[in-house]
Amino acid sequence: MAAGIAGGRYLLTCYNCKSVNTKYIFVTGGVVSSLGKGIMSSSLARLLLSRGFRVTIQKFDPYINIDPGTLNPYEHGECYVTNDGHEADLDLGHYERFTNVPTSRANNITSGRIYQSVIDKERRGDYLGKTVQVVPHVTDEIKRRIKQLGNTGNYDFVITEIGGTVGDIESLPFLEAVRQLRWELTDDCLCLHLTYVPFINAAKELKTKPTQHSVKKLQELGIQPDVLVLRTERDIPAAMLRKVAQFCNVSPKAVFQSIDVPTIYEVPLKMHEQGLDDVVLDLLDVDVESRLDLAAWNRFLDKMHSATETVTIGLVGKYVELQDAYKSINESLLQAATYDDHRLCLRYISSERINDGNVAEQLAGLDGVLVAPGFGQRGVEGKFVALRWCRENDVPTFGICLGMQCMVIEFARNVLGLADANSTEMDPKTPHNVIDLMEEQKSISNLGGTMRLGAYRCRLTPGSRVAAIYGTDVIEERHRHRFEFNNDYRDRFEAAGMRCTGENPDAHLVEVVEIPSKRWYIGTQFHPEYKSTVLNPHPLFVDFVRAAIAYKAEKKD
Ligand code: GLN
Repeated sequence: MAAGIAGGRYLLTCYNCKSVNTKYIFVTGGVVSSLGKGIMSSSLARLLLSRGFRVTIQKFDPYINIDPGTLNPYEHGECYVTNDGHEADLDLGHYERFTNVPTSRANNITSGRIYQSVIDKERRGDYLGKTVQVVPHVTDEIKRRIKQLGNTGNYDFVITEIGGTVGDIESLPFLEAVRQLRWELTDDCLCLHLTYVPFINAAKELKTKPTQHSVKKLQELGIQPDVLVLRTERDIPAAMLRKVAQFCNVSPKAVFQSIDVPTIYEVPLKMHEQGLDDVVLDLLDVDVESRLDLAAWNRFLDKMHSATETVTIGLVGKYVELQDAYKSINESLLQAATYDDHRLCLRYISSERINDGNVAEQLAGLDGVLVAPGFGQRGVEGKFVALRWCRENDVPTFGICLGMQCMVIEFARNVLGLADANSTEMDPKTPHNVIDLMEEQKSISNLGGTMRLGAYRCRLTPGSRVAAIYGTDVIEERHRHRFEFNNDYRDRFEAAGMRCTGENPDAHLVEVVEIPSKRWYIGTQFHPEYKSTVLNPHPLFVDFVRAAIAYKAEKKD
């Protein structure tokens, strides 16, 4: 194995693969959804990366939407954004947090995108004379996309997660493509199937029948899984795992359990303890002698387990009953708290329920407050009330995207005295449009994929708090918005103490605001949460949580 560092990322030559071909691992799911295929794919990727291999994970989603960008968070949770501006499934966030390797548009494909390219080809005449069909045209397009990242030569392993559950009508073309690829790729691929073993309380028994049925379903489609991972809330006896192996035509050494653990970041260790990575390498004919180095990962987990002190952060948003809506923010806060040897106590506070009368009670006891991103009018007035209280009481406060825009509006209303100040998103006729639609957005009518998306450079004001936090003056962060700070008001804000300390060098869009006289009062138009990973917690989150910890200590004195 030769390893070198290039551009901050490992470049490895897979000398310990007996063959040098890219290896493909397909991850399917059965019995029920929400078993954590994304976490299992990420955990396996972490183990392979920690052995020095180059790995990427991609997600194929069977729904027809071109991307999840127009989906309500109630449907699929948070919309994650990649550097290249793709609005992606939240599993890509797990991939990046576990692997520390950026993903892109090529890592998340939906049925909609597959069909769109097939139909575009048909219109161009690429299939001239042929009847365009699911098999072979749609399946060929799926296969092409599955191999796209592998063909770059940048990866030793491509893990492909197939969304949905085996048996769904809409995932059939994807599974047919996997079936065909297994024959084309022969020894260079394997299929890992994730199922569920329920515990029947009345009988006090774990049941494997749903797993057997799910594997049968996969076999009916022509796919024999090589590895089975059984999700469970209780320890599955070894004899039961052997029985599953026997009934499902899988080698006994390739049947694993994945038991519930206190944190998802323990899953790689639990799977390694049972030998998942060894078995995968063995099945793919890769030398298993490569050394596994999980030292940094273990340090993170040790910190998490040994922390006794807590830091309490309030997340003010409108999707409080749905934790997946703010997935990346939750994980970024958790990583930052862990990094500072604290347990995170995260309190979700519905912005719709906050008013002047109850704000002190709603926000009582918090060491820091994060005001969430979002769209539309619902809950926005509560965000203004919360922000005023935080600003006046000097509580460490972090505003992200809409949260930052709310910081600006609240400041305009209550400090600059512009009582009707607003964003034109909420009130198109506001006399003080301190947040306004970006110029480039004014001619846009289609809603899909048309926001200002992805990574843009931002210049930080030397000497500002945010520049000190980053330790540099030029950064790159990811965006997802249509509205911006209105520069016509900039001087008035600066004069009154809210400073614009981050700016896009080309378009002069304001990307960061801060009130330097406060303990920690920073808003970012970009989304730092998309870049925080286990091994690289984001500096803004680390500093915010550190300020909250310091504030907690001050309150005690
Ligand atoms: N709705 C705001 C905009 O489009 C903020 C978006 C967000 O919070 N992601 O600019």
